[in-house]
Amino acid sequence: DDKNNENVNDLLHDVMTLLRTQANLYDIDLVLEAEQDCLVLCDRSQIKQVFINLIKNAIEEMANGGMIHVLVELRGKECMIAIKDQGPGIPKHLIHKLKEPFFTTKKNGTGLGLMISNQIIDNHHGRLEIESEKGQGSTFKIFLPTE
Ligand code: ADP
Ligand code: MG
Repeated sequence: DDKNNENVNDLLHDVMTLLRTQANLYDIDLVLEAEQDCLVLCDRSQIKQVFINLIKNAIEEMANGGMIHVLVELRGKECMIAIKDQGPGIPKHLIHKLKEPFFTTKKNGTGLGLMISNQIIDNHHGRLEIESEKGQGSTFKIFLPTE
């Protein structure tokens, strides 16, 4: 593999700059809240792909515009990256299906984005947690070990 020490905030900054144009077309603001730098041993392009998949999903759920907050926090020896949207949320009984291949609620969805993201995070010895209730918006939390 191809892992280097990367500053997670730099990767997020790159990805959010890329996605902001698309988000703004839908009246969505992308906000990064990072209190400190988090260094993570990772494959830069793979982790960027995870951020793109999750932020795109958030954008795709926010038909009425609003805010997507991306929070970065150092939690002990882990870096937590939380992506919070103001979309319709996910019914509790569906949450466990989201990481399965080909599960999609979209007309042209592949249902592969979260499966691949989960796989990449696994390969980095991290984990992906999904928190949501129908009507409440959703939060996807990525935990990655720092060095
Ligand atoms: P796709 O985007 O192609 O549908 P994903 O694996 O990225 O595939 O997502 C699978 C499904 O999980 C989506 O179709 C949607 O039902 C649900 N989902 C993912 N992200 C969110 C979100 N932020 N809010 C609500 N539902 C979501
Ligand atoms: Mg997707």
